[in-house]
Amino acid sequence: MTTTTINHFINGQISQGSSCRSQNVFNPATGNVTGNVVLASAHDVDSAVQAAKAAFPTWADTPPIRRARVMFKFLELLNAHKDALAEAITKEHGKVFTDAQGEVARGIDVVEFACGIPQLLKGDYTEQVSTGIDNWTMRQPLGVVAGITPFNFPVMVPMWMFPVAIAAGNTFVLKPSPLDPSASLMIADLLKQAGLPDGVFNVVQGDKDSVEALIDHPDVKALSFVGSTPIANLIYERGAKHGKRVQALGGAKNHMVVMPDANLDKAVDALIGAAYGSAGERCMAISVAVLVGDVADGVVAQLAERAKALKVKDGMQLDAEMGPIVTRQAHERITGYINKGVEEGAHLVVDGREFDAAQTGDGCAEGFWMGGTLFDHVTPEMTIYKEEIFGPVLACIRVPDIPTAIQLINDHEFGNGVSCFTESGSVAREFGRRIQVGMVGINVPIPVPMAWHGFGGWKRSLFGDTHAYGEEGVRFYTKQKSIMQRWSDSIDSGAEFVMPTAK
Ligand code: NAD
Repeated sequence: MTTTTINHFINGQISQGSSCRSQNVFNPATGNVTGNVVLASAHDVDSAVQAAKAAFPTWADTPPIRRARVMFKFLELLNAHKDALAEAITKEHGKVFTDAQGEVARGIDVVEFACGIPQLLKGDYTEQVSTGIDNWTMRQPLGVVAGITPFNFPVMVPMWMFPVAIAAGNTFVLKPSPLDPSASLMIADLLKQAGLPDGVFNVVQGDKDSVEALIDHPDVKALSFVGSTPIANLIYERGAKHGKRVQALGGAKNHMVVMPDANLDKAVDALIGAAYGSAGERCMAISVAVLVGDVADGVVAQLAERAKALKVKDGMQLDAEMGPIVTRQAHERITGYINKGVEEGAHLVVDGREFDAAQTGDGCAEGFWMGGTLFDHVTPEMTIYKEEIFGPVLACIRVPDIPTAIQLINDHEFGNGVSCFTESGSVAREFGRRIQVGMVGINVPIPVPMAWHGFGGWKRSLFGDTHAYGEEGVRFYTKQKSIMQRWSDSIDSGAEFVMPTAK
């Protein structure tokens, strides 16, 4: 079995770095080692930050329209290589190829948004705020900014960050997940081909050590993090202690409410796709179905039938609906949650632990396989309700009415995404207004906002004030400056000792 070494990308060059640490990269479908990713030392992180720091003044001074032209060229190259990126995702993450294509497409949306940077950076101007005086505000880049990203979207989540950051005039250091690091180098290569100057975009491969080196580095001005809540919390606190800007997006437990008046067939379709798509390893996956009133028995019966019939196989097979779990450790963690659900008295309707790996495809017997799991009669006290499982496990919870459903969701520690299936306009309206969650879908199971709207949860799903991408992303990666100006022919002679007011 041949394996490749997956290196850093620093100052426009592939770099092995100086650390002797590395870890294996697996194809989760086969369980085979396909690569070995180097893990950066603090010295390697410093090399990347120094390259980014050196590139910053010239890049920040490059007119926005010229920065946008690099983004346009990058966009063209991305479109030409999007299937190669999707294949790299499937081979290291395991999600099915068509889903990986969707991930790349949603990343491309943000690059398209970033191509509009001249318009987005336009400042505000007021003439004659006082006689002979004008006042304007403008937004300037921060300097070197870093992105630390999770395994579950190795292309899309970095693209929530660097296109906006770079187009706004910053230079960037990406620290991807070591579980699926190859796509980051493909992106770096495409950016270089697009004409991005060396040092503007860098990749350091690594783990906890490289993240800590980035947080503590005095030349890193802002950190964008996406990952689990405990790490998001830690990064937010430690980054803020160093006076950095931090946006840290964390974990989730997303509910979908099914009202008695909903189109139940469509609601079941939505639940199956949103719970088991990408093996539930999405921060916007639906992991709790909140079944209101008398819909529960019928919905659970349909879900059970569909969960048992899921086509779970190697993601490169085009009819696959669900691929493997990302790692053996994640497989064990999810199995542990299913065991716990049974111990705590939830009704196990479909047991994904019993899945037979023989049906997954040639050479896949040693992969990290599991089927879809369905629990019914879950209660708010149970561990499988309270904690994020991040696997193909759907918990059904029964409630009598919509106020109880809303209260239940609002009491949960996470507030990333939520959905409500109903045909009632007034239920939909009240649900949207009263729910304490950042991203809401009405008859939309996974309401990931479009590139110009911004992505972010509430409560312990986001630490920081601004959402990723969209106009909030532009604000995060720029700081506002106000300039007030007048010329000598409008200046009265003599010193002024009182607070100036409009004259
Ligand atoms: P993770 O928190 O384990 O890792 C995220 C990043 O942090 C990786 O780059 C990792 O190398 C690094 N890291 C891991 N442990 C660290 C430590 N102790 N100190 C410093 N850095 C550390 O998350 P993951 O397993 O890669 O991704 C899954 C999680 O990400 C889920 O909780 C999911 O909900 C969340 N997620 C959230 C969003 C969102 O937008 N809110 C989007 C995608 C994923």
